[in-house]
Amino acid sequence: MRGFFVPIAAASVALLALFAAPATAQDTPGWSIAIHGGAGTIARENMTPEQDAAYRAALQRALDAGAAVLRDGGSAMDAIQAAIEPMEDDALFNAGRGAVLTWDGDIELDASIMDGRTRDAGAVAGVTGIRHPIDLARKVMTDSPHVMLAGTGAEAFAASHQLETMPPEWFETTRRREALERMKAEQLSALDVDIKFGTVGAVALDADGNMAAGTSTGGMTGKRWGRIGDAPIIGAGTYADNRSCAVSATGWGEFFIRVGVAQEICTRLRYRFRAEIDAAQARVPLDEEGIPTYLVHASEFGLEAAQAQEEIDAVIADVGSLGGDGGVIVVTREGHPLFSMNTSGMYRGRATSAGMNEVAIYDDE
Ligand code: ASP
Repeated sequence: MRGFFVPIAAASVALLALFAAPATAQDTPGWSIAIHGGAGTIARENMTPEQDAAYRAALQRALDAGAAVLRDGGSAMDAIQAAIEPMEDDALFNAGRGAVLTWDGDIELDASIMDGRTRDAGAVAGVTGIRHPIDLARKVMTDSPHVMLAGTGAEAFAASHQLETMPPEWFETTRRREALERMKAEQLSALDVDIKFGTVGAVALDADGNMAAGTSTGGMTGKRWGRIGDAPIIGAGTYADNRSCAVSATGWGEFFIRVGVAQEICTRLRYRFRAEIDAAQARVPLDEEGIPTYLVHASEFGLEAAQAQEEIDAVIADVGSLGGDGGVIVVTREGHPLFSMNTSGMYRGRATSAGMNEVAIYDDE
């Protein structure tokens, strides 16, 4: 399992604040964003230098688009949408244009989005012809009383809101057609042909402390019977909660649904935060009457990146223990942009107001 972290300014002010009375407010956390373009068996030896460079350039474009929104004071919701849309348009990824084909040779798209400020959420499953399923998911959130719409109903809803559509040939690529044919001819599983899953996602914390998460995918090659993966399921592939974190997942969806990966990570971080505050409070010196000289307040406390990473890795390990694989991107309330995966690679990137700006592919980067 891989994961890495870089502490950013103001991320963990707790212990400094512990003995400082009166309480000082936590420094503004700045902004932070992480993106992914899918996890899977991504090995250096299987990538040409041109492919490697093309993926890095595409990830950088998406990361820059999201970071620009946050740098200009925009919201986390707008930032993740700005990051996801170029990847939906890019045939390198399994979302929007370039998505994988179903058993019947069609393209059925899934997407979801969640606003960590209010925990409002929107999702669409099994839609065809929608250029940006992430926009449609957001419309479901903002313009309907529902969280999830599927199939032709979702498409009718899209039409009534003038969402942009494209013809089937715009979405379909030769690479994905060949993968489906190979799967059928050689009786392979989706995992054999989808060695790189290719789903896209983004998570962000904006300068106002609000978080958002979004995920968009074509699912898995050769899917049938209306199969839906984790990507459009709030709590499995996507979750955002200002009290803890924002998560977007990629991988073998069935396992991510069973573990409830995205919400499980947020819940674990929320409880870990509580446990660390309690531990910090227990370390505060007592006065002569045995009363703590200082009360640790949540507003001045933050989890360290390594603490959050432990919780995230534990959830990915749980997916692995059931036999699943994949990865997640996470931004915590403190602004740590983190990754975890149990695959050999994940297309990914992250940027922060503290100056981090990087993209990566392989697990050892
Ligand atoms: N999680 C997606 C699904 O199962 C696939 C992926 O991440 O590429 O539909």
